[in-house]
Amino acid sequence: MKYLTIEQRERLRKDLQDLAARLRTEIAEHRQLANHSQETDDDAVADLEGDLDIADLERDVKELEAVDAALKRIHEPGFGVCADCAEEIPFSRLTASPAATRCVACQAAHERRTGGGTAPRL
Ligand SMILES: [Zn+2]
Repeated sequence: MKYLTIEQRERLRKDLQDLAARLRTEIAEHRQLANHSQETDDDAVADLEGDLDIADLERDVKELEAVDAALKRIHEPGFGVCADCAEEIPFSRLTASPAATRCVACQAAHERRTGGGTAPRL
């Protein structure tokens, strides 16, 4: 099964590379901020800022891992195919989130099972 054109894959590869570069910059900035807040005298504020930074940082690091994984898969036949139901993921979904490994329905089901991500909107 190979439904994405070379042009579509190239477009997604470029999006993923841009995303990876932006995430690497954000992660570097977060690390600088985290170091800086540890140097302030106000421990309560520093702790709060540190927690927020760490949550942001972890989200960015996870996203970067997903983006890097997607870049490795991009020219494989399985790229753009849902990991759960093996249906093709619509190109419009891939342009919105190029690191997606599931179609919208399976992603929602996965998040319900794992309790991760956003709460069901019903
Ligand atoms: Zn699916």
